[in-house]
Amino acid sequence: MARNKHGLARKIPKDVELKIRTACGFGCVICGAIPYEYDHLETEFHEATVHDPEDIVLLCDTHHKMKGSKILSVDAIKLARKSRAGENSEFRFKLPATSHDFEVNWAGNIISASDNSVLVDDVSILSFVRTDNEMEPILISGQFRDRYGQVVCDISDNAFTSCAASLGDFKLVANRFSYSLPGGLMGLAFGLSDHGINIEYAYHVKNDVHVFAKGDLLQVGNLSQTSQFHRSKFFRMQHAIIIESCTDKFTYDGVDPATLRVSGRMEGSTFEGRYAGIHIERGSRTRISLG
Ligand SMILES: [Zn+2]
Repeated sequence: MARNKHGLARKIPKDVELKIRTACGFGCVICGAIPYEYDHLETEFHEATVHDPEDIVLLCDTHHKMKGSKILSVDAIKLARKSRAGENSEFRFKLPATSHDFEVNWAGNIISASDNSVLVDDVSILSFVRTDNEMEPILISGQFRDRYGQVVCDISDNAFTSCAASLGDFKLVANRFSYSLPGGLMGLAFGLSDHGINIEYAYHVKNDVHVFAKGDLLQVGNLSQTSQFHRSKFFRMQHAIIIESCTDKFTYDGVDPATLRVSGRMEGSTFEGRYAGIHIERGSRTRISLG
């Protein structure tokens, strides 16, 4: 049914959806789980004349059923929403299984069979540990930050936790995660499958280090040097990319990474079987190990 008897369309307008997601802390209002559904709280959809954000909440399947069987009262749900709005909400998402040929696609640049994808000041954005478990041969851990250096997504042994307190919006639809910052700026977007992570957008900042992925560009650098990669491949390396920061007295607030001076540009390059594919050191030296 596209419309109810009052002519109200089933589809909730996008701006109303965002209000609801924000009020509910971007996950089920009771437990924070994803996936969730938009549930009309007091006035059921077939009786509603308007999509009132005050009267719609996010509920996971379990808690939607508990509401249906009256175990969860409307008052209890409203109380839960009140406490979630100010909380540092966290949502956990477990990658169902991984594959031996798991790879990371950083905006068209492929990193596979490596222990670490990108290492910033000895902290890995994504690291991989091989196991003997046939169901889960690779365990992923890591941490994505945003352009202000805030952690937005924390990964521990294939469990993804999104830190929503400082976000403008967070969505997980069909294994695609997208984060935006307050004000609407894109924060991070990636898709997950058992064969890999496809990073569509990232602007990760730590001190004066930036890691920027967008379209078909991966750009990494500090205040001294910046390297760009297009359609490049990194195989069997301990660390695909290592970057060290020069100073902690710098912020990228308002800086468009596309305007930074580029010192190296790699197009269609292959890096293979080394300690590191590219190492941008503190100071002004870059080591490159082509395959
Ligand atoms: Zn729930």
